[in-house]
Amino acid sequence: MKHLPRVLVVEDEPAIAELIAVNLTHGGFTPVVAYDSVAAERELNATLPDVILLDWMLPGQSGLTLARHWRKQARTQGIPIIMLTARGDEADKVAGLDAGADDYITKPFSTQELLARIRAALRRHSPAAGNDCVTLGELMLDASAHRVFHQGQELKLGPTEFKLLHHLMTHAERVHSRAALLDQVWGSQVFIEERTVDVHVKRLREALGAAGTMVQTVRGAGYRLTRSA
Ligand code: CA
Repeated sequence: MKHLPRVLVVEDEPAIAELIAVNLTHGGFTPVVAYDSVAAERELNATLPDVILLDWMLPGQSGLTLARHWRKQARTQGIPIIMLTARGDEADKVAGLDAGADDYITKPFSTQELLARIRAALRRHSPAAGNDCVTLGELMLDASAHRVFHQGQELKLGPTEFKLLHHLMTHAERVHSRAALLDQVWGSQVFIEERTVDVHVKRLREALGAAGTMVQTVRGAGYRLTRSA
C-alpha cells in the first residue's frame, strides 16, 4: 500500500482542525490532530510526521515557541514546519521563518493552496522520493540530470556550486553556518577553510544571475536560500 504522508495538525480551534483534517484526507494525506502543545509533543514522541502544520496562536506555548523548540531537537529538526497564521504582517512572517518554519500560510487559505504547499515542503525535504527535481520559486534543480533552470532558462554551474545549491534548495529558508555547509556539502573528513565557502557562494550567486539574490548572507550566522528575495 502506498505510504500516505502523515501530517501533524497543531490547531486549537476544533472546527478549523476538523476542516483541515477532512481536506488532508481527501488530498491523500494522513492527518493527526493535536489541540495544544502537550498533545503535539505526545504525538511527536509516538510517531514522527512527514510535515507539521502549526497554528501560530495556541493556548500555552505559541506556535512560534514550538517551532523554535522542535528545530533544536535532533528528533524533530528535519521535519518541515508550515505555520498557519492569521497575521499577514511581514515582520511576523520573518519571525516565523527565523524560528525555523519552512513556510507559512495566512488564514483564510484555500484547500488547494494548503495541499500544494504541503506537497512542496515534502518535495524540498525528500527530493529522492519525488522525481529528483527540487523547486524553489522560479528555480528548479534536476538532481538526476544535473541541470539547473531559472525561469525555464538553463544555468551553468560548477560541480561544487551544484552540490551547494542542491543542499540549500533541499534545506531552504534556513540559515546554514559555514561550518555546517562544509560538513554537509564538502564532507567533514576534508579540511578546508571556512573562507572557501564564501568563495563558492560568490560563484554560485554569479552563476544564478538574476536568482543570485535568493542566496542571502545572514550576518554573523551564515547563508540562507530564500524564495522571497
Ligand atoms: Ca489558534
